[in-house]
Amino acid sequence: MAEFHKADIEKLIDGVLPWPATQDIIKSPKDSDRFDKYIEIMQERVTFKETILLPLTPMLFIVSADGARVVKCRCGHDFGDYRTNWKLSSLIHVRDDEASLGEIYKGREMPDPSWTQLREYICPGCGSQLEVEAMPRGCPPDFEFLPDLDTFYSEWLGRPLPDSVASEDKTLETIADWSAAK
Ligand SMILES: [Zn+2]
Repeated sequence: MAEFHKADIEKLIDGVLPWPATQDIIKSPKDSDRFDKYIEIMQERVTFKETILLPLTPMLFIVSADGARVVKCRCGHDFGDYRTNWKLSSLIHVRDDEASLGEIYKGREMPDPSWTQLREYICPGCGSQLEVEAMPRGCPPDFEFLPDLDTFYSEWLGRPLPDSVASEDKTLETIADWSAAK
């Protein structure tokens, strides 16, 4: 199985690896420790110390923090339990009229503001735009990825996590808790 240097994987992530070398990696079977190399690179780039369990995006990570599994931004901002859609805890900028959508789309490219919203999800910690989605009005934020971490670690990586939690969507539970607290 091919083994590539961490420095090359880092260049691949940053899009600065020369095309022939990139092709070389693409065409080869993945090296067995590719995931670990990727995590190692990302761990060096974030400002927090907690262990990254799984990257969600180049900016967002599921980390192990004091026995809990939470989503953190690269800046360290904590979005809470990974089983609740992190978007609920972000700052949300909504474009839903011609003036605001017109800053993004030109002419006929613009979706009909009477039914489309463009939502920009922003980190309260560092102000980075983490995600953008175009959704019909009234549609809840898309929960893009709820991984089964225990299965991934035990069956794919062959090293089970020390604890285990049920991989279930907690988003509605979180919203219910907010309602009850009022
Ligand atoms: Zn942030």
